[in-house]
Amino acid sequence: MQKDDQDMAQTPQNEAPDSVLITPVAPIANSTHGGRAKCLQRLVRLDLPVPRTVALSFQAVHGIAQGEMPDMAAIVEAFPADALLCVRPSSQDPDWGGPGAILNIGMNDARYVDLCDSLGRDGAAALYLRFVQSYAVHVARLDPDVFDDVEDGGPDALSEVLHAYEAETDEPFPQDPAEQLAAVLRSMARAWEGTSARLLRQAKGAPADAGLGLVVQEMVPGFGQGECGSGVLQLVNTKTGQPQITGRYLSQSQGRDALGAGAEALFLERDPRGPSLEDSAPEAFADLKSHARLMRQRLREEMQVEFVIVSGAVHILDGVRVTRSAQAAVRIAVALAEDGIIPRAEAIMRVDAHILTELLHRQVAPDATRDVIGHGIAASPGAATGRLVFTAAEAQASAARGEPCILVRRETSPEDVRGMHAAVGVLTERGGITSHAAVIGRGLGLPCIVGASNLKFHSKRKQLVATDGRVLTRGDTITIDGSSGEVLAGQPEMLEAAEDGAFQTLLTWADEVRDIGIRANADTPEDAETARKFNAQGIGLCRTEHMFFDPGRLTVMREMIFAETSEGRAAVLARLLPMQREDFFALFRIMEGLPVCIRLFDPPLHEFLPTSKSGQRELSEALGIPVSDVTRRVEEMEEYNPMLGLRGVRLGVTVPEIYDMQARAIFEATLDASKEGDPVVPEIMIPLVSAKREVELVKARIDAVALAVKAERGEDFTYRLGVMVETPRAALRAGEISPHTAFLSFGTNDLTQMTYGMSRDDAGRFMSAYVNQGVFPEDPFHVLDTDGVGELLKLGVQRGRAENPDITLSICGEHGGNPESIAFCREAGFDYVSCSPFRVPVARLAAAQLAISSQTGKSPRESLKS
Ligand code: PEP
Ligand code: MG
Repeated sequence: MQKDDQDMAQTPQNEAPDSVLITPVAPIANSTHGGRAKCLQRLVRLDLPVPRTVALSFQAVHGIAQGEMPDMAAIVEAFPADALLCVRPSSQDPDWGGPGAILNIGMNDARYVDLCDSLGRDGAAALYLRFVQSYAVHVARLDPDVFDDVEDGGPDALSEVLHAYEAETDEPFPQDPAEQLAAVLRSMARAWEGTSARLLRQAKGAPADAGLGLVVQEMVPGFGQGECGSGVLQLVNTKTGQPQITGRYLSQSQGRDALGAGAEALFLERDPRGPSLEDSAPEAFADLKSHARLMRQRLREEMQVEFVIVSGAVHILDGVRVTRSAQAAVRIAVALAEDGIIPRAEAIMRVDAHILTELLHRQVAPDATRDVIGHGIAASPGAATGRLVFTAAEAQASAARGEPCILVRRETSPEDVRGMHAAVGVLTERGGITSHAAVIGRGLGLPCIVGASNLKFHSKRKQLVATDGRVLTRGDTITIDGSSGEVLAGQPEMLEAAEDGAFQTLLTWADEVRDIGIRANADTPEDAETARKFNAQGIGLCRTEHMFFDPGRLTVMREMIFAETSEGRAAVLARLLPMQREDFFALFRIMEGLPVCIRLFDPPLHEFLPTSKSGQRELSEALGIPVSDVTRRVEEMEEYNPMLGLRGVRLGVTVPEIYDMQARAIFEATLDASKEGDPVVPEIMIPLVSAKREVELVKARIDAVALAVKAERGEDFTYRLGVMVETPRAALRAGEISPHTAFLSFGTNDLTQMTYGMSRDDAGRFMSAYVNQGVFPEDPFHVLDTDGVGELLKLGVQRGRAENPDITLSICGEHGGNPESIAFCREAGFDYVSCSPFRVPVARLAAAQLAISSQTGKSPRESLKS
């Protein structure tokens, strides 16, 4: 904040003058007169050629809306007698909007006659006519239809418009400039207080009582000798943020109508379309550039300059923050810091962490035409175009042909993972933000929409029926926008991902200040590579179950399920051991000594058995047993509620051979990988714990495996055993669990599911109704429920740490990548958060912003607005 801001921010609203001429020392502040008034004062302080401007305070404008007019004579006297005026809104935050500007106040019959001399009759008539029309519609609130019969540009257009006005209002068009101005102020003040305007700005985050200031500015006549015209100029490209002088300019002197829809001449210094301002008025152009540079330097922001040129002289009417794409926002913040204009910490605070996601993925171009055929939950960001396929096998075949495809499924299961790898995007009818498709999609950085229940999925007929009845079949091209949740027919124009140098620089600066660790959830070597690319500090969750769905392994898993004895199971699992060892070895090598936290097997075993008759027949052939045995086993393993059934540590206790094999694979891979590089200290995590005894039992077996491997290999290693807190009971009993573990990692997907008693796979069906009716403020699977689930997390942290002060605490549910949840975790004293690899950049920036705001006392959102 600059000194003048500090002074004025302390000006209490009720002491701000009702109206004040903007001078370098006038008492004007953002909080009393709005952003535009304050910006204009800064331009005046920079000695820029700003026309005379009077600022009206929020209080004055509120009074006007109630019928209490300020001293109008004083306002009018601030300007030359024959000046034309314009009024523009000045809200505290430009995003909150405001009524449109009204120009050329003061035009009347007498001014028209005067202007005929300087502008010519047509020019003067056009000016007057436009003012009458805009006054009629915005101030007198007439229906624009009343001018329908007026012939545009006709010789009598002006008198027809004046007649139409009089006929509608029963009064002649007001001639007194002070009266015109008062009416304009009143209409703008009342427009701001109207219900729809209030609702609109509240939706943009404005408080209910947000004030509006108004600025009354002398208009610079856009005519004279030599170069005359008006336009806007900025120093950067709004899409890329790269330095580039761009803008628009309407030149009157080059034979174009400065007031009409004349041809545009781009400012680009080598514009192929004829003479640019640089050619026709090089001095004015040089002045403009230097004014714009000064504004960038002193307003500490990329500004768009609104200007008028009269007889070659530049006048600055206004400066507004350049609108910018996500890519430009990052580039601009970094460039301002690199040029020493703002400190690095401020650059970090100026970028909304959520927008980084846009830079990591292809997007539908903002101006592309969207042929929307349905929508669902935006589960994994980015957009992808491909041909429709309905099974994982079709997806793999399509990928083999080199044809990008979108995999469409009712819902996905682990069997679909290979198909998901082959597809460029995934669309499901069912599921919520933490359903299988959503979690895997985010992990792979694959655009994904789930819960698109307004589309009809006919998997057998290989058809998708759009909300408007259109039928799409296998092979048709669709696009899914995983950022908005929209499903589009065809292929709209796309914007490529843009992780450029500025992106990397900003994140490096962020890492220097953040005070909470960021790891990635990574299951495969590709995930781990992505995690490294985004500088994750390790793997916080490696889900191992996907490793068993490889066709070669699936049959072995099934054989294990059919084994009758512990020895039989162990013997079958021994065949999987080398494969698992390779899996872990690959992860350890990629992570080069960074921590890797491997979660032991979690899902219920029946997920590995075929559900279809043909699948069961095939399995009976593969295992050489009767089909009836297969069917019986499948039925035996069926569960009413598999998510609360025999899974996680419950398998570890009842079918311990699986964990034994996994532990051995981890330890052997640890020794192998440590030989070739940095020593590896694996982390082994037990899922779905609810009782201390579960941990004791599993720990005893894993310790035994560790001792055995050490003895066999004659080599030593260490490892850390931890517990995944996913059940409310584990959180409540963290005090008795923590002495047995090196770490507690909170799995907030299951914890949310169990705290609410709400299935994460089915919640998508009613979630939007719940959110729309305000039952939940947000989808709790998406944004951490800090009240309920959060209370369990806090209890778990306090109780766990009280009994084991050295314990490492983290979160590995999908919430880990969400800036709001990271704030909670940081406050609660977590050591790190772990999230999908593609969310790591967002998490790094958000964590840095939280560290900075804890020092400045300003939230990231407030900083963005300042
Ligand atoms: C969790 O439950 O939060 C978690 C990370 O595990 P999963 O999503 O695999 O159930
Ligand atoms: Mg879980």
